Amino acid sequence: MTQLIKINSDARLDSHVMRNICVLGSTGSIGVNTLNVVRQYPNLFSIKTLTAHSQINLLAEQCAEFHPELVVVGSAAAAQELEKLLLNKRIKTQVLYGPAALVTAATLPSINTVMAAIVGAAGLLPTIEAAKAGKRILLANKEALVMSGDIFMKAIATSGAELLPIDSEHNAIYQCLPDANTSNGGARGAYSQFGVKEVLLTASGGPFRTIALSDLSHVTSDQACAHPNWVMGRKISVDSATMMNKGLELIEAHYLFGLAAKHIQVLIHPQSVVHSMVRYVDGSVIAQLGQPDMKTPIAYGLAWPRRIDAGVKELDFMSLKGLSFEEVDAGRFPCLGLAYDALVAGGLMPTALNAANEVAVQAFLEGQLKFTDIANLVEKTLNRSQLAQLGRADSLELVLQADLESRQIAQLILKDF
Ligand code: NAD
Ligand code: MG
Repeated sequence: MTQLIKINSDARLDSHVMRNICVLGSTGSIGVNTLNVVRQYPNLFSIKTLTAHSQINLLAEQCAEFHPELVVVGSAAAAQELEKLLLNKRIKTQVLYGPAALVTAATLPSINTVMAAIVGAAGLLPTIEAAKAGKRILLANKEALVMSGDIFMKAIATSGAELLPIDSEHNAIYQCLPDANTSNGGARGAYSQFGVKEVLLTASGGPFRTIALSDLSHVTSDQACAHPNWVMGRKISVDSATMMNKGLELIEAHYLFGLAAKHIQVLIHPQSVVHSMVRYVDGSVIAQLGQPDMKTPIAYGLAWPRRIDAGVKELDFMSLKGLSFEEVDAGRFPCLGLAYDALVAGGLMPTALNAANEVAVQAFLEGQLKFTDIANLVEKTLNRSQLAQLGRADSLELVLQADLESRQIAQLILKDF
């Protein structure tokens, strides 16, 4: 009853706020899905800025459809090419390029919502600046939070920004937490006070869950990117195959929900129907279920605290062949253990882990590293990262230094593989 009164008295449910949106990484898998949801609700959502690294033709098409004020690309050459395309289409969108322009795109006063969907460390600065500027952050770019967790969460708390997780597991967990349907302003940590005992992060196990261990060292990047349930960008697909993705998500869950590593459990759930769960002290376990379609968490974040039709096929229980759960095979997925150890070590270790993994995945995708050496390269890098071992993550400068140090060490070690 109390809950009901609280919901009904939430002004935001009655008079919706127009979401004026920046999509960081609009040409990627999450970016395109975001625009697929936005397109359905011109009265709720308006695109103000878009950013993309190099897919200029797609970005030009997005400009023709959504008429943003500003778009940002990765280089001067890409900006020139885009300007030509926009001139041909008589579109008056301003074009900028480079990292500082990404921050501009994410912090314009006309924006109140930022979809953080750049892949990797490149998304950190615009996302954290948007957090400082008090925007609603829809966080897909988990690497940004893994790199700078405490600083990021402090920026959110200080500015009063709303932080809504888009990663399907964290979105699911958020939906299962007590304040998901109120206007508390998104994930804020410290949920143990609400009787939360632990969160259960589900993982599909990726494309190599059952392949013979002896075959793992020969798998190709295309095999690694062929995820059984989700269609995603190539970096996160490789992370899913090594389960570093679940390791990054473990760290992400720690910061978002204020839970120690021992209160976050990873479970293999090959069907990807249960997106994650929360176990309470009274014995209840609350789960969020749905299709493996990112439009659901994206629509949730865009419309929160309302619900809108995400254009996702309904989950048909009669056609489910059963839901199963397994323990993670630590020998098959060493990256998960590395991430767990980095979280327990704390400080700049998660930053170094993320940077080493980005180098390793890129090298694997370019054919310079065997799949099984991704974990080896990350482990060797962490053992040699001095800042990560000594440093405290108490400033953004330190975070960026640790990121750089780890990348340099990983590049050096890579030569020996
Ligand atoms: P993607 O590779 O499909 O797209 C990445 C986007 O980032 C593109 O628009 C690209 O132009 C941009 N980009 C890449 N490098 C850049 C750089 N150096 N500077 C500026 N922009 C750059 O990736 P994705 O699958 O959409 O994933 C995006 C983020 O969302 C990742 O952090 C990923 O972990 C997270 N995420 C994705 C999914 C998914 O289903 N795809 C699910 C959960 C979380
Ligand atoms: Mg996920």
